[in-house]
Amino acid sequence: MFWRLFRFFLFQAVGAALGYGLWPWELALSGALIGSIAAGAVWALIDLRRGSGLLQWLRQGPPAQLPELPGLWGEVGTRTRTLLKERDLQLARSEARLAEFLAAIQTSPNGVVLLDAQGRIEWCNRTAAEHFGFDPQRDLGQHVGNLLRDPAFTAYQASHDYSHAIVIPGPRSTVSRPVRLSVDLHAYGDGRRLLLSRDVTALEQAEAMRRDFVANVSHEIRTPLTVLGGFVETLQTLPLKPQEQQRYLALMAQQAQRMHLLVSDLLTLSRLEGSPPPPLEEWHPVQDLMDECEREARALSELVAVPAHLIQFSCDAATELAGASSELLSAMSNLVSNAVRYTPGGGRIDVVWSSLPEGQAEFSVQDTGPGIAPEHLPRLTERFYRVDRSRARETGGTGLGLAIVKHVAQRHGAELKIESTPGQGSRFTIRFPAVRLRQIAI
Ligand code: ADP
Repeated sequence: MFWRLFRFFLFQAVGAALGYGLWPWELALSGALIGSIAAGAVWALIDLRRGSGLLQWLRQGPPAQLPELPGLWGEVGTRTRTLLKERDLQLARSEARLAEFLAAIQTSPNGVVLLDAQGRIEWCNRTAAEHFGFDPQRDLGQHVGNLLRDPAFTAYQASHDYSHAIVIPGPRSTVSRPVRLSVDLHAYGDGRRLLLSRDVTALEQAEAMRRDFVANVSHEIRTPLTVLGGFVETLQTLPLKPQEQQRYLALMAQQAQRMHLLVSDLLTLSRLEGSPPPPLEEWHPVQDLMDECEREARALSELVAVPAHLIQFSCDAATELAGASSELLSAMSNLVSNAVRYTPGGGRIDVVWSSLPEGQAEFSVQDTGPGIAPEHLPRLTERFYRVDRSRARETGGTGLGLAIVKHVAQRHGAELKIESTPGQGSRFTIRFPAVRLRQIAI
């Protein structure tokens, strides 16, 4: 600053000296004054020109070249340029951090929407756009209430009580494909809100299935239990002849057996769900499994069918199957026993093991029973699903047999196929993958 003042006064002194020298001696003093003023004006003009050069550079912004300026303006320019560079660097860093932060929220499996104080969408991630059917670009600035018109959500938003989440149907929800979303709002900043969404369709379906399952199990157990209770009461209160007593006891044993079967099928299912995958290195001869099935089928047929069924077992190759033998036997015998139970006496049952090209093989059970209408086929493997409840009760089924078969098949990488023609019969097939099969030399 000192040098600047020094230069200014030097400039004026030179101007005054020139004025003094150029004017006649009687006007020398006035000449010196005029010279000094003129020098000050020239100095101010030069200074103004440099200042405006700097201002122009500032207006254009940093990519433009900073003009070469001496003195004070030069220093102001360089320092401003350094400050601007630092600011740009900080801005770039904050933008990078914001981008990283938003990218992290983008990957969230939950929907995130940022709302301003008026409820307008400021930003939303892909999951939220999917959940609510928003367009992440076009719908920015739109009122969320205009896009999410569910009455429960409108009431929730207006209530300002965000202590709990609410569940609403997704905009693409249909009767056949319901979508349920859990949404909750959180207030933050100056009236802003964070809208979070979570797809709870699978959770709600699992909960509904659990409820149905408990209700079904209770119902299945209550029925034989009520019958048993009735018989016990009859035996306790009525003076019955020994023959009648025997008849009642036989009926009671039948109900107890029904409960026993149900509990053991339930245990099998829960074991299948909880146990590790069946081993790939434990090999079992298919012929042994078929023999065991055949013994059970013939014994059951003698018990339930008059005249007996025409049962035929055949196996086209000496094969070994890798997996859990108890599970495999349970799946195979469930299919065979269904064929025996549902096919009227005198009907035909063919159980075949056949090798397929590319190393696969099939276990199939074909019967000439009543068959199943096509609308029931997709639901047959659901737990407790029966085509005809009263008939299923007569045949002594638990309603869990095909659920067990499907589970076992899945655990062994196999596929269960059901074909049926009402009035003609059914064919149940389990197709095993090549990795679980090997031929053995006889
Ligand atoms: P269940 O213990 O009642 O037999 P499953 O799960 O084994 O239960 O079978 C489900 C339903 O599928 C049965 O109730 C029956 O209506 C039908 N079903 C199964 N196998 C046959 C078959 N071979 N012929 C006709 N219907 C069958």
